[in-house]
Amino acid sequence: MNDVKKVPDVVIKRLPRYYRYLGDLLNQDIKRISSGALSLRMHVTASQIRQDFNYFGGFGQQGYGYNVEFLYNEIGKILGLDEGDSTIIVGAGNLGRALACHSGFERRGFRLVGIFDSNPDVIGTEIAGLQVLDICYLEDFLSKIKVDIGILTVPKAAVQKIAERIVKCGVKGLLNFSYAELNLSQDVAVENVHISDPMMTLSYRIRRIGNEQ
Ligand code: ATP
Repeated sequence: MNDVKKVPDVVIKRLPRYYRYLGDLLNQDIKRISSGALSLRMHVTASQIRQDFNYFGGFGQQGYGYNVEFLYNEIGKILGLDEGDSTIIVGAGNLGRALACHSGFERRGFRLVGIFDSNPDVIGTEIAGLQVLDICYLEDFLSKIKVDIGILTVPKAAVQKIAERIVKCGVKGLLNFSYAELNLSQDVAVENVHISDPMMTLSYRIRRIGNEQ
C-alpha cells in the first residue's frame, strides 16, 4: 500500500472528488485527459492537480496527459476502495435507515454487514436485507465479524459511549452523523458529517443573494 502518512489531509480530502470525476469520464469513454482539461472541468487549478498527483508518483506522462482509467484505479487503490470495507450502522432511525438503503456506498465497495439499535420496536425489523440487531450484541458481533467502519446515527447523548464500545473491539474508522464531537484516541479515524451545517451556511448565503455588490 502507498505510504499515505506524509500526504496532507487536504489532499486526501480532494481524492474522492477526483475519483468521482474520473469515474464520470470513464463512463463517457474518455480515455485520457490533460491536467489543464481536468482543471477546467473540475474548477481546480492545473498546478494543484499536478501537485496533488505528485504525492502519489505523478501518474501523468509528458505530452500525453493522464490515462483516465489508470488514474481512476490508482486513486481507488490509494483510498483503499479496491480492498473494500465492511461497515455497521448503529442507530436505525430515519437517517440510519436511509444510509442503509443508500446504494452509493455499495457501489464504492462498502459492504453493510450489521445494523444495531436499542429500541425494541426497531430490533428485529428488516432494513436493506438485514435484521436490526439488539445493541447488547454489539461486542459479540464484532468479535466474530471483521468490521472496518462504524456509522453512527444515534442521538448525541448516546454517541460517545457507542463509539468507545466499537473502538474497543478494534474498529478503526467511524463516520459520525451525530452532533457530538467524539473524544477518542489518536489511532481511530473519525469523519464527522453534520448534515445541518451546510443548511445553516446556505441559510446565511441565500439571505445575501442580491444584497452583495
Ligand atoms: P433520525 O435522527 O435518524 O431522524 P430518529 O429521530 O428516528 O432518527 P433518534 O432519536 O435520532 O431517532 O435516534 C436514532 C436511532 O438511534 C433510533 O432508532 C434510536 O432507537 C437509536 N438509539 C438511541 N440510543 C441508542 C443506543 N444507545 N444504542 C443504539 N441505538 C440507539
